[in-house]
Amino acid sequence: MDDEWTLGGSAERWDDRTDDGSIGHGPYSLIVNPLRSLILAAARNGTIRRLVATAPVSRDVVRRFVAGETTADAVAVTRRLVQDGLTVTLDYLGEDTTDTAQAERTVQAYLDLLDRLHAEGLADHAEVSVKLSAVGQMLDEDLALANAKRICQAAEAAGTTVTLDMEDHTTTDSTLRVLAELRRTWPWVGAVLQTYLHRTLDDAKRLSAEGSRVRLCKGAYKEPETVAFADKTEVDKSYVRCVNALLAGDGYPMFATHDPRLVRIVDERAEAHGRKPGSFEHQMLYGIRPDEQLRLAQQGHTVRVYVPFGEEWYGYLMRRMAERPANTTFFLRALATRG
Ligand SMILES: Cc1cc2nc3c(=O)[nH]c(=O)nc-3n(C[C@H](O)[C@H](O)[C@H](O)COP(=O)(O)OP(=O)(O)OC[C@H]3O[C@@H](n4cnc5c(N)ncnc54)[C@H](O)[C@@H]3O)c2cc1C
Repeated sequence: MDDEWTLGGSAERWDDRTDDGSIGHGPYSLIVNPLRSLILAAARNGTIRRLVATAPVSRDVVRRFVAGETTADAVAVTRRLVQDGLTVTLDYLGEDTTDTAQAERTVQAYLDLLDRLHAEGLADHAEVSVKLSAVGQMLDEDLALANAKRICQAAEAAGTTVTLDMEDHTTTDSTLRVLAELRRTWPWVGAVLQTYLHRTLDDAKRLSAEGSRVRLCKGAYKEPETVAFADKTEVDKSYVRCVNALLAGDGYPMFATHDPRLVRIVDERAEAHGRKPGSFEHQMLYGIRPDEQLRLAQQGHTVRVYVPFGEEWYGYLMRRMAERPANTTFFLRALATRG
């Protein structure tokens, strides 16, 4: 058993069963999870897409995970979460843009949003998360960098920060290059590392210097075994190794997971490293384990909720469904009962 697997003298063991009795379904379990593969395949099917996108019940289900389609929706949800003692990172939905006009619309959406957050006095508690592929990374890295700079400038003017989401492994080097360039002017730009990748412990050590904001997550894309752990336990062990590396450094780690065991380990390891609650944070997705979000906040932790909004909610919703069959059952039951 690895050293970092040992907590407070007792060894933690993982298996596939989660605290709520269901079987764990991380993204990395795709190979052994046919339902997840099926849902992701359905997500790419045009007919199913149209059916889901136009079914009236979709609106209710979507609203559980997505703030809405407009900036006003995003701001309203942010205000409610902030009133509950939570902090927020907002994601304007959309990715893999191969069209400069679409990339420009995405940048404008972020600029509008940042303006509104500032005007409404919410910028102290709400930042933005940006996918470089939504602002032109697939067309040209320099275009994505230029667009990201505009968003960082607006965030600085609004008095908040930006985190660069991490996408599939073919973009990791490019995203870290853009991050390094942005940090020359805006050292507060946040990075995201995915523990399903073999490379991530090295990246975590490299990015753990003073002031470095790093979100740690398991990873949400379908990756080949040449670059990623296929086994759930290996991904979880990698998560714990990276938790230790980030907490041992001088940066500001942001632990993004809903996994009850990992949340517990983060808190235990933080205490062992002498970290006070304000020197790291927990992050979870909007609509997932909301009670746990409030519980952690009430304990004095900084908890940041990742709130997606915008018209391009379909792919995001399907990823959440694929992560957890219970969500799909809920959705299908709602479809069946409402016709
Ligand atoms: C704030 C935030 C930002 C993220 N940013 C990125 C990013 O930039 N790049 C990236 O690749 N991935 C990102 N992710 C997604 C992440 O990589 C995982 O795919 C996702 O968080 C599920 O992994 P998990 O750690 O919650 O553990 P899992 O093993 O998936 O889940 C553990 C437990 O959490 C609960 N749970 C998990 N998912 C759900 C759900 N959908 N509904 C209800 N309960 C659930 C269940 O109790 C489950 O047993 C982000 C996640 C968060 C929370």
